[in-house]
Amino acid sequence: MELWMSIVGISMSLGGAVQIYRIWQRKTSDDISMTVWVVLIHGLVWWLIYGIMIGSISLIITNIVGISVDSVVLTMIIKYRTKSKQSALATYYKKKGYTNIGADEEGHTIGNCQKCGLHGVLIDEHKCKKS
Ligand SMILES: [Zn+2]
Repeated sequence: MELWMSIVGISMSLGGAVQIYRIWQRKTSDDISMTVWVVLIHGLVWWLIYGIMIGSISLIITNIVGISVDSVVLTMIIKYRTKSKQSALATYYKKKGYTNIGADEEGHTIGNCQKCGLHGVLIDEHKCKKS
């Protein structure tokens, strides 16, 4: 039983490690469901509580490892989601005719308008005279 638990624990951690490597390698988490990992961590937390209740060291250790690895996965999903959202936004503004898209100190999206030639305009507030 103890060995079986350890094998299950290691397998689940490996799944997380594979996912971490995949996100890191591709620099995007767009096609990875955050819900799946939240549910998984939630499940592991209950297994950990159960392990503590019955005093099973292997159950406690494997679930702590599992929760740690899966928390890294979740952190990476969130981290690489933000980046791809920004690039998705940049693509959207590029289609609208802006180049050199970035953000000012207050976080507003700025860019160069190709229609009127103005540089560093606040895209959300820019009422282009040429359109
Ligand atoms: Zn303009």
